[in-house]
Amino acid sequence: MIDDQDLLTPGAELERLATGATWSEGPLWLPDERAVRWSDIPGDRILRWDAGTGSMSVHRTDVEFTNGRALDRDGSVVQCSHGRRRLEREAPDGTVTEIVSHWGEHRLNSPNDVAVAPDGSYWFTDPHYGIVQPHEGHPGEHEYGDCRVFRWSESDGLISVIDDIDQPNGIAFSPDGHTVYVTDTAAGLGDGPGHWIRAYDIDGATARRGRHFACIDVGLPDGIAVDAEGRVWSSAGDGVHVFAPSGSELLFVPVPEVVANLTFGGDDGSDLFIAATTSLYRLRTTTRGADTACRP
Ligand code: MG
Repeated sequence: MIDDQDLLTPGAELERLATGATWSEGPLWLPDERAVRWSDIPGDRILRWDAGTGSMSVHRTDVEFTNGRALDRDGSVVQCSHGRRRLEREAPDGTVTEIVSHWGEHRLNSPNDVAVAPDGSYWFTDPHYGIVQPHEGHPGEHEYGDCRVFRWSESDGLISVIDDIDQPNGIAFSPDGHTVYVTDTAAGLGDGPGHWIRAYDIDGATARRGRHFACIDVGLPDGIAVDAEGRVWSSAGDGVHVFAPSGSELLFVPVPEVVANLTFGGDDGSDLFIAATTSLYRLRTTTRGADTACRP
């Protein structure tokens, strides 16, 4: 079944809220501002859509190709920078500082997306797009070899947690914090790398028992979001696909542009904001985001 319309409010229609970007990524709802912040990666800028006025503006320019972001518990924004090859923080006053840029002596590739774990650590993906695609960063070398998923915390530093994904990209936690989902945007199909959303059990600071969770066969799964009931909402070439915690598909919502990433937000957490190529869209749902990072 791929038409569980109960997940959408009656009569819900896809709304285009803003347009004019080149490649939209990394949307994040900022509750204090009642705004969505997202990246236009090739445009090297961060955009902002204000829920109060319904207008779009440029938040910052010359941002060194930021990509995904997450809200930290202190209200600051943790974000990935392709150009600086690092995870960084933007404080509410606008100050940007480095969190981590190296694994041992090696520079990271180009951090892509980040999620805050229930224990407050940051889990982020490190594929190679920002060092192999000149319009999304600066050409560079893979300094530590392959691509990985890392966990960073103040006390433990940087730890490699997942090393069996070709191009790890989107990342999100289950509501109970026991599972982490990671997408693989490699080009393969079948049981090999690429097109899969992978799932892992979390055991303290490690991820175990990696397995295929669901496959996106039209385009690639990039950013993902998990709702309060544990369903996984995935980007794809043709729209948004929603999967039950079992991995079975529940709903497909076509979007007229290639979807790169999505996030829950809005005043009640039930709006799905979709970053799709040139535009930001909204879809009203009957669920809300998992909000794992804000649990005590
Ligand atoms: Mg991504």
